[in-house]
Amino acid sequence: MPARELFREDSYLKTCTATVTASDEGGFYVDQTVFYPLGGGQPGDLGFVEWGDGRLDIVDTRYGQDGDIAHHVAEGETPPAAGTTVTLTIDWDRRYRHMRMHTAMHLLGSILRYDVTGGNISTEKSRLDFNMEETVDKEAVQQALAELVSEDHPVSCRWITEEELDAQPELVRTMSVQPPRGKGAVRLLEIAGVDLQPCGGTHVRSTAEVGAVRVGKVEKKGRQNRRVNLHLDD
Ligand SMILES: [Zn+2]
Repeated sequence: MPARELFREDSYLKTCTATVTASDEGGFYVDQTVFYPLGGGQPGDLGFVEWGDGRLDIVDTRYGQDGDIAHHVAEGETPPAAGTTVTLTIDWDRRYRHMRMHTAMHLLGSILRYDVTGGNISTEKSRLDFNMEETVDKEAVQQALAELVSEDHPVSCRWITEEELDAQPELVRTMSVQPPRGKGAVRLLEIAGVDLQPCGGTHVRSTAEVGAVRVGKVEKKGRQNRRVNLHLDD
């Protein structure tokens, strides 16, 4: 069975205990984890694993075999064997910046209501690509972003079944991105009064936690593409 993804229930969990379910030379798998795997433009978590008198850095987290979460260790290191009880701890400072950035990207998407064609998140700088021809008024976007942060909107996640979604078509109409179909349940990210869309990433609890976000360069990446860069200044 794939790892229980504790970070989807509580993105503020920094550590958890787990049992190793499999391991190979590249890394190991567990029954539950706080490590977010690379996806949706958000990098995989870094951190460390401890067991008995062992301790190793986790140098990357990605989806691996059978869609399960692979915790990678450095080349040449031997990960803990299947059956070992371990403690997993993420690099919280790095992850928290990803959470702030990720939430800021939702805010940006609510200001520029165009289709998003790509994006990438890092601790210092992130970018979102929009399918748009118009020029972006950087000052206006910066001001709108600052307002959304200072208004401190609550951010929450909930799971909804496709049946519930079908019963509330108005919900889909208010979403900026259409939910994927055929997977049974959809995870929705809601920034109260601002944004509602399917998302599997990690976010902060309220927009005030986004903090000092600044709109950087706006690049023209083709006739129909505008790339907006965001920076965290602290
Ligand atoms: Zn998200």
